[in-house]
Amino acid sequence: MIGASVYWTLDRVAGNTVAPKLRALTRGQFLDRAKILEFQSEALAQVVRHAAGTVPFYGRLFADHGIRATSIRSLDDLRRLPILTKKDLADHFEDHLSVPARRKRLVRRRTGGTTGIPVNVVVDRHGNGWELASYWRGCGWAGYRPGVPVAKIFGGSLGLVSTKRRHVLKRHLLRELHLPVFELTRSRAREFARRIEAHGAQVLIGYASALVRLGEYLNEEGVTLRVPIVLPKAERVDAGTRAALEHHFCGRVFDAYGSGEVTGVAHECDRHAGMHVSEDVYIVEVLDDALRNPVPSGRMVVTTLRNSAMPLLRYANDDLATVDAAPCACGRHFLRLVDLLGRRNDELIRSDGSRVAPVFAPHLFQKIPEIRRGQIVQPEIDRLVVRLTLQLGADRESVAERVRAAVRSTLGAVHVDFEFLPDILGSGDQKFRAQVCLLGGGSRS
Ligand SMILES: [Zn+2]
Repeated sequence: MIGASVYWTLDRVAGNTVAPKLRALTRGQFLDRAKILEFQSEALAQVVRHAAGTVPFYGRLFADHGIRATSIRSLDDLRRLPILTKKDLADHFEDHLSVPARRKRLVRRRTGGTTGIPVNVVVDRHGNGWELASYWRGCGWAGYRPGVPVAKIFGGSLGLVSTKRRHVLKRHLLRELHLPVFELTRSRAREFARRIEAHGAQVLIGYASALVRLGEYLNEEGVTLRVPIVLPKAERVDAGTRAALEHHFCGRVFDAYGSGEVTGVAHECDRHAGMHVSEDVYIVEVLDDALRNPVPSGRMVVTTLRNSAMPLLRYANDDLATVDAAPCACGRHFLRLVDLLGRRNDELIRSDGSRVAPVFAPHLFQKIPEIRRGQIVQPEIDRLVVRLTLQLGADRESVAERVRAAVRSTLGAVHVDFEFLPDILGSGDQKFRAQVCLLGGGSRS
């Protein structure tokens, strides 16, 4: 496909060089368990030495704990390192940056996350390339390759599809149609379907809950939309969600797992037996509640093996997972995530009964740098309570104005009450959620 090959060329110019990395990852996808562990141990030793030597946060941490970086050479050794929390990352951003990387061109990401603590992460071009390669390898397992027409239902900048030239070009080359999720209402569902069909989309990507809602609205309208490959993102896909998506779009559903901090972590293969972790890019551990011992089902901890600008060692991202190390019928030996329980936020409800995706609050908070943590609660159909902890010195009025405008553009003329909290909202609360609906019909994603 011409679009795809032009895209790879531009990508090489940008410095990500995804194509050769994708070939390398594709070659390695059937490695046996012993080979995978051997690779991980070597990569880990390297990344730990790099972190201790060039990242101020880790230099200090290793010194404080009396750990020699060269003594970390295997997955067992890795367990001696302390856990990195979301708060560590939010509070010490500069300290997490590798010193030599500060002069390089970096990819910056700000992520909302379901827990409402926005976190900044940077990735160097090569690290970004490896993560993209992992993403595209996973898409390939679902039968989706760059250049196949695709419709994406995502947040954008709260309804605004990016008009940056490089984004427009990328959309064109990869034949992407972007539809803004927060504008998906019952009355616009038919228009969404018409545009997806006119685009000839073979692949439908979007927040799981939003795709289900689209299917439901179309069903009510008696409109059929067939898309062969459905890739729900960012939310848990339970059996009910999967069945609903297959039913509504007559397609096959492939789940994936990643977040703003660590993208393209795991992808489902065509045996549909869980998501294979890209263990050639990440180490994933699943630990008990105390974050001490490995268990089959528990809290997820991720170590990045390919990001030299901001290596994350044992990062607890607040998601819960169930893993299975048994080989898959597809022949791959990568660990499988067989269930994922992220922090689950609620949908909000508009006055016409249509729903606002659970990612609305995290998405909004990540757009406003003054917000340290936030929460949106809906006690009544026409009233929201927005609770915020702001950075020191932030202007409350200005933040409130931006939040109110975004809320009203998505939910219509609702009343918005603000509560500003001096201490970090919900800190220490394991069950804290960024978007909560207290109305009877407010469903959990
Ligand atoms: Zn498999």
